[in-house]
Amino acid sequence: MRINAQGHLEVGGIDVLDLVREFGTPLYVLDEEGFRANCRAFRDAFAKYGHSLVIYASKTLSCLAACIIVEEEGLGLDVVSGGELYTALRASFPPERIFFHGNNKTLDELVMAVESRVGRVVVDNFYEIELLENVCERLGRTQNILLRITPGVEAHTHEYIKTGQIDSKFGFTLANGDALKAVDTVCRTKNLRLMGLHCHIGSQIFEMDAYAHATEIMVDLLAEIKNRFGLELEELNMGGGFGIYYHSGDEPRQPEEWAKAVMSTLRSKTEANALRMPKVIVEPGRAIAGPAGITLYTLGSYKEIPGVRKYVAVDGGMTDNPRPALYGSKYEAVIANRADREPDELVSVAGRCCESGDMLIWDIKLSHPQPGDILAVFATGAYNYSMSSNYNRVGRPAMVLVRDGQADLIVKRESYEDLIRNDVIPERLARGDVVKIAAGKKL
Ligand SMILES: *Cc1c(COP(=O)(O)O)cnc(C)c1O
Repeated sequence: MRINAQGHLEVGGIDVLDLVREFGTPLYVLDEEGFRANCRAFRDAFAKYGHSLVIYASKTLSCLAACIIVEEEGLGLDVVSGGELYTALRASFPPERIFFHGNNKTLDELVMAVESRVGRVVVDNFYEIELLENVCERLGRTQNILLRITPGVEAHTHEYIKTGQIDSKFGFTLANGDALKAVDTVCRTKNLRLMGLHCHIGSQIFEMDAYAHATEIMVDLLAEIKNRFGLELEELNMGGGFGIYYHSGDEPRQPEEWAKAVMSTLRSKTEANALRMPKVIVEPGRAIAGPAGITLYTLGSYKEIPGVRKYVAVDGGMTDNPRPALYGSKYEAVIANRADREPDELVSVAGRCCESGDMLIWDIKLSHPQPGDILAVFATGAYNYSMSSNYNRVGRPAMVLVRDGQADLIVKRESYEDLIRNDVIPERLARGDVVKIAAGKKL
């Protein structure tokens, strides 16, 4: 990303105003080199310290092109629904590198996963052990699994707590003995092969000690499993959650630092417990897709309330980025057509939806924002498109992949027709007349 001679923002070697002219707004822009570099950074950092596999958490941003890029970079993929699995399979993602997560996988989803031979099902609860065993029995298949453990470490951004917490909807609780009971239950099945353990301690984490602590707890559990069941598990999946830069104050760590924290703790803990070093799996999502994405909007209406604030509104909002409304997430942005100018005016950026909470950014300095300006919001590659909605019957934006001065459409903009695609008029409401709608001239 840079500012070109015209003072415009440029990404992937393209002036964003050219992107706007060709594809319109709102527009998701994914920087291919950035996305790939993030994949490689995690892959190489962990590989340096031992046997490892980095899997991209596709819930962050799932589409065919993203799956193909992840595959090309040699990563695995984690999916949490039939839809994400379908997307991966349609992108020809090798099923043996797919991990299937979720706290309530349906019968149909488990059948789909087993039939398509996904590498691992990460089993979340006792009901699922029974359901999956039953599916495997009926399909005449065995399935490699991990057990999701709730290790009692919970991390958020700058702090983490060791709670021994048992109040989570995810996984087998360590503190009350459920984790060991789950291992015992799986050992008694005929068709499930326990390959290892999984945990995921949170999201947007900057605190390295949180991972080191969780790693220690998980290795203790591996040791206990070996003692009790004579079973030395080969895989340890430490989840995702690696934090990224959204706004000032965020101080993300490098993949190298995460790898070192996890792997050095793992090495010393396994040695102390006379265990073999397991294969380590990590599942970054946000840290791969987040920084590689920006969203472009056109500014429209504005409203100044003297002595209070000035609102400027964009042609998108909570429909394409629900995170500010959902979590109070903060973003940074610039006026892309005056990216070289000092941001001198304090405004708040409103979305277009009929919801007071639809505010994209409170209190941000922008360079004299005017209707028709292009606003570029940074670090929107993760949990934006994937969490988008059609609230107010607003169509989802298009997504383009940019690289070396080339832009390719990877997700089409939803048309009005797309919005009614699944609507059905029952016979008794049918009208018979064909309605002609003004095509919408380009003025
Ligand atoms: C969401 C999630 C991830 C990815 O989290 P990020 O914060 O995007 O890195 C990884 N593993 C599991 C189990 C998750 O639920």
